[in-house]
Amino acid sequence: MQEENTVPGSVPETSEIPEIPGVTDVPETEEAPEEESTALTHDRELACQNCGAPLAYMEGENVITCPYCGTATMLAGYDNIVKIDGHSMLPMDVNENDAISALITWLSKGFHRSKSYVGSAKIGSVKGLMLPYWIVKSTASTSWHGKKKRTKTTGTGDNKRTQTWYEPVSGRFSEDFTWPEYAREDPGEFWGIGNIQPGKKSVFPDWGKFWLRFGGSKESSNRDMLAGQIPFDIEAVKSAGMADDLVNGQITQERAEANARGNISEHQAKKAESKADVMTDVDTTVNVNKVDLVYVPMWEMKYIMDGKEYSALVDGAQKEVLGAEYPVSKKAKITIFDIVLGIPAIVAGILGFSGDGIPAAKIAMFVLVALMLAYSLKKGLGSKN
Ligand SMILES: [Zn+2]
Repeated sequence: MQEENTVPGSVPETSEIPEIPGVTDVPETEEAPEEESTALTHDRELACQNCGAPLAYMEGENVITCPYCGTATMLAGYDNIVKIDGHSMLPMDVNENDAISALITWLSKGFHRSKSYVGSAKIGSVKGLMLPYWIVKSTASTSWHGKKKRTKTTGTGDNKRTQTWYEPVSGRFSEDFTWPEYAREDPGEFWGIGNIQPGKKSVFPDWGKFWLRFGGSKESSNRDMLAGQIPFDIEAVKSAGMADDLVNGQITQERAEANARGNISEHQAKKAESKADVMTDVDTTVNVNKVDLVYVPMWEMKYIMDGKEYSALVDGAQKEVLGAEYPVSKKAKITIFDIVLGIPAIVAGILGFSGDGIPAAKIAMFVLVALMLAYSLKKGLGSKN
């Protein structure tokens, strides 16, 4: 872990433009020549510590990979420039066509999506990126205390009584993580890249106006982010044609580790919640083994279906959709609609036609069946989706 050097003497306050009495409005063209503006995002430059090549970077970027030799440098604080040793990558094994086919296959599978509507999908844009993540290899141990609701029924008939009480329960569990912390400030810069952390929602169904919304979304799993990890190899990046798509980091290792600790604790607390009815205490200890800067290849895609644009993120190391937005197929909506109405229709049918038969139930059944048919026909004839 990198220790930040303390700057001798006092750190100057963030420079603010001093108020000049009498001067109310300074025209923009008359800028003071000595002013070193930090507000403007001028490219900055630094010499690579390994090969001496100039490294151009933007204001705010402090994890910089040399495009010539591949050495990663971190600006860890004032005058504290360090070489990052734990610098690796996942190989770019999935090319553009593979990524598109992975998305098409994904869109044609599952209950909420359907094969027939994939044909109408148009790929809008495909962008390959090498994105910087701090992968925090760690073990989290969680101990929890809570109360579980218990009920007991005694006696029969009029003496039947139900007792309710709370019993103290506790437990502990632990889990290993290769926790990904995206090394940039704005997770919205590229679609979905902040959602690959375990437990984060990564699949977003678009139900349109349909109101019976069952399932269709998915959370990211606790996958091994270091599977297939190789030392960072600038030549491999160049030969994959990705050298211009290397994105510098903005978040230092120290901050990423602190963020990971917080996020892992939160993830564990959420998991503990289901174990008791009332949770009184959850305590998680995160032991960090290693923090590596790992470049992860990703394909950010936009596609159009039914005149609407959706986004998807495909893993560039393995042919896998990591996250996506998608329209729920009409077939799935019809099925859900028919199930929801079908059950009361069956109940009404039984009530209406068994024994004495309740006339209202007969009518209810016919109304429900008619609704199911009408909906299925309307949606089914409207489009193939
Ligand atoms: Zn270099």
